[in-house]
Amino acid sequence: MSITYDAFYIGGKWVPPSSSATIDVVSPNTEQVIGSVPEAQEADVDAAVAAARSAFDDPSGWAHWPAERRADAIERLCAALDARAGEMPTRVSSQNGMPLAISSRIENSMPQMMMRYYADLVRNGHLDDEIRDGVAGGKIAVSRKPVGVVGAIVPWNVPQTIGSQKYGPALAMGCTLVIKPSPETVLDAQLFAEAADEAELPPGVINVVQGGPATGAYLVTHPRVDKIVFTGSEKVGRWVAEATGRLLRPVTLELGGKAAAIILDDADITANLENFFLATMLNNGQSCYLGTRVLAPESRYAEIVDTITSFVASLQVGSSLDLSTQIGPLATARHRDRVEGYIAKGLAEGGRLTTGGNRPRHLEQGWFVEPTVFADVFNGSTIGQEEIFGPVLSIIRYRDDSDAVRIANDSRYGLGGTVWTSDPQRGVDVAARVDTGVIGINGFLPDPAAPFGGTKASGLGRELGPEGMEAYQVLKTTYLAR
Ligand code: NAD
Repeated sequence: MSITYDAFYIGGKWVPPSSSATIDVVSPNTEQVIGSVPEAQEADVDAAVAAARSAFDDPSGWAHWPAERRADAIERLCAALDARAGEMPTRVSSQNGMPLAISSRIENSMPQMMMRYYADLVRNGHLDDEIRDGVAGGKIAVSRKPVGVVGAIVPWNVPQTIGSQKYGPALAMGCTLVIKPSPETVLDAQLFAEAADEAELPPGVINVVQGGPATGAYLVTHPRVDKIVFTGSEKVGRWVAEATGRLLRPVTLELGGKAAAIILDDADITANLENFFLATMLNNGQSCYLGTRVLAPESRYAEIVDTITSFVASLQVGSSLDLSTQIGPLATARHRDRVEGYIAKGLAEGGRLTTGGNRPRHLEQGWFVEPTVFADVFNGSTIGQEEIFGPVLSIIRYRDDSDAVRIANDSRYGLGGTVWTSDPQRGVDVAARVDTGVIGINGFLPDPAAPFGGTKASGLGRELGPEGMEAYQVLKTTYLAR
């Protein structure tokens, strides 16, 4: 069955596109076309920005509503998404290869959890003005104002959850949104737009335009946009940073990663394999924070290589729509070619393949790559340094805790990471020395209440937590003279 849309959700209506250009969605399981949406041109982006602009600029509109009223509207949006929670995971998994067992745990509920978190935050007074005593005398009122029209550029890997970590704080703050999903995941974005329509937010508060790089670039530099939030690759992120820098336009960037999973010499990995899987191979390795560099202590090196190899070799590979699948296909043919290129490079640079490395023989169609482990990887090699974004682990040997920290930090990225140990305090001590924005002990569990983001080439700014609101606000100071 093919799902076809012929309109964009702009200004609270379904609006016909300005051209006949379309984006076809191709199943990563079957390589067949499974849907199509219009592709936004500049005129469509202009219409979406104009709708968001007039919704934001309305003097009695969304941005000026009491926070509680906006929180109620966000709750209606969440209820409309709850009503679509059965369908949303299938939409996502049929497009990007995320195993249904994962999308049914994340993409059906995490977006609502995130948006409700922000609705509750503003309901509970987070946006109230603060009156401070000045040091030089007098009182000072500090208030938070919404930054304006937000252009939100979303990747394909976990599209609903990564989208909502932008929409939640932006909407709660009083901003309006122009959302540009990735061309690989447009059908779930249309389902989100249907929920927004049903929730009856004021026209123009949420607008969705589907398109690729040209559409995104046009949105980033649009003269009537006030703020850009982007999740995607480092390469595009650097361009977005340059473009917004020239415009002095605030920007939040969530970019790539090459995290380390540091296995300390007292760790019981065998007892913790489920968490280890979630922290290193979730979503076929297509997640930015995964610990794909596995650091194993010299004293237990052979045993750990064996444990991880047999675990990875046992993973069930198959259609992303089969609930028993643990590793689905990669999102696109081009992406599979890229991952295979890294596997070839890993072999050429002396990595020792302990399992995987090929296309699975039992799957003739679809963009599958076997879950793969390289041992004896040199951290300075290509697969030790570059983000593969596929089901490929690189095991790297270390001498002692300090050596493990040195290797973990020898990376251009600083997003995620994990430490595995039977002594949680020792884990916390080692984690404190790792230069990343986020890290987990014996697991990695992103949470709406926890700031998320990277250091170094992993990005700028933070999403989630109360701190995630800061990206969508400007502070206004009023001096109250004595
Ligand atoms: P990508 O950079 O190619 O695309 C991301 C988004 O940007 C897409 O919507 C795309 O259409 C759009 N885009 C592309 N060129 C653009 C341009 N010039 N101007 C504006 N928009 C443009 O990345 P991808 O391959 O879709 O996603 C995978 C990458 O995202 C990985 O590097 C991954 O690490 C990163 N990622 C980071 C996080 C995080 O939170 N740090 C989360 C998920 C994914």
